[in-house]
Amino acid sequence: MQGLVIKSTGSWYHVLADNGKTYDCRILGKFRIKGIKTTNPVAVGDRVRLQFEPGGETAIITELLPRRNYIIRKSINLSRQAQILAANLDLALLVVTLASPRTSLGFIDRFLVTAEAYDIPAILVFNKLDLFSDEGLEILQDFKAIYEDIGYSCYEVSALQGTNITGLQEVIAGKTTLISGHSGVGKSSLINALLPDRQIRTGAVSDWSDKGQHTTTFAEMYALPQGGHIVDTPGIRELGIIDIEPQELGHFFPEIFKTSDNCRFNNCRHINEPGCAVMAAVQEGGIAPSRYESYLSIYHGNDTRN
Ligand code: GDP
Ligand code: ZN
Repeated sequence: MQGLVIKSTGSWYHVLADNGKTYDCRILGKFRIKGIKTTNPVAVGDRVRLQFEPGGETAIITELLPRRNYIIRKSINLSRQAQILAANLDLALLVVTLASPRTSLGFIDRFLVTAEAYDIPAILVFNKLDLFSDEGLEILQDFKAIYEDIGYSCYEVSALQGTNITGLQEVIAGKTTLISGHSGVGKSSLINALLPDRQIRTGAVSDWSDKGQHTTTFAEMYALPQGGHIVDTPGIRELGIIDIEPQELGHFFPEIFKTSDNCRFNNCRHINEPGCAVMAAVQEGGIAPSRYESYLSIYHGNDTRN
């Protein structure tokens, strides 16, 4: 029998088997992934093969089925092992707020670059719509325009008041969707709004742990009433990417990638080269200056981490 890993605690895995029942499962033996060392062989979202144990309540995971994709957490411990957070994602959703707290454009751009590098489609969900003044709503339209022009879909919701939640439910129906966002943006509230039957904690300070030391946090997966799943990564501030070379960075900014066809040099880094079409587009308004700033900041490795 096969199943879907819906929760992991490190040594035990909750697996929703294809017979509709959930089993506590363990791993015997080792699964290896080419290229990286990982602390956990199996993650939420993985499809696995099961062998039931006597009694029928528990099972052994005997095989990891091929993954479409997987994401790792950013901090890698001293032995340079990555932790796989989740696998087989269809969509990456970033919850963003313009105030209390304000999500920086740099943070949004790093998230989008990460999603591009993993080849997972990304959307932005602007939350706390109920708090916006008229002026705030105008700023929101400017923010949305930056991202919609590039091709990222943006949604405006109020998780608290339930505004525009139905539209979002339609977008994520049938998909496995990763939800990310700064602490305090209303990620838990949004998950609760999307899952009427399942109340998880809100208002909790969830980023206490990750100050450089290696703490293990596991993703959680929730089934959506309309089909599909939400994957939450509590306590994870930012996802990690496996090796983006600086000269490849432009590939993960869709508008820079498209424009770079017209650069004079085909190995243009878009930093100070003559005939750079990207820098010209920034000057002429075709590429948002904030996006180009994010490009430079990631390129030079001086992320501000806010
Ligand atoms: P998380 O840290 O991202 O999981 O954020 P929480 O869901 O815990 O929410 C943080 C705070 O923002 C809580 O006090 C929520 O009540 C509040 N909040 C969440 N969504 C909204 C919203 O749409 N509007 C308003 N006004 N407050 C919200
Ligand atoms: Zn260029």
